[in-house]
Amino acid sequence: MNCIFCKIVSGEIPCAKVYEDEKILAFLDIKPVNLGHVLVIPKEHYANMLETPHDIIAGIFQKSKELMISIKTAMSADFVVLSVVGIDVPHFHIHLLPRYSSDGLHNFWPTKLIEV
Ligand SMILES: [Zn+2]
Repeated sequence: MNCIFCKIVSGEIPCAKVYEDEKILAFLDIKPVNLGHVLVIPKEHYANMLETPHDIIAGIFQKSKELMISIKTAMSADFVVLSVVGIDVPHFHIHLLPRYSSDGLHNFWPTKLIEV
């Protein structure tokens, strides 16, 4: 399968590993929004969250919470954002992003709200 995250799981492509168990791998994003930006993925390939079994989702979110605590401490972040974007790499993954009140990123989401 020509999936970059599957190649990272198999070791064909190297990564800066943050956490690994039998089902989950977490590694640093190669294009971090802020330093310490981590991706958490199931080792098995699922194209997106809708195709991922409930037990895998439960495990990956539980581990993500633990990693958020570690990232907040390690990066001295003000808070850590968890996001599932799902339109970049077609292998289910969670972004964990350390944020700082002074990082200038403001709100991630563009809005169509028109001020009146
Ligand atoms: Zn994959």
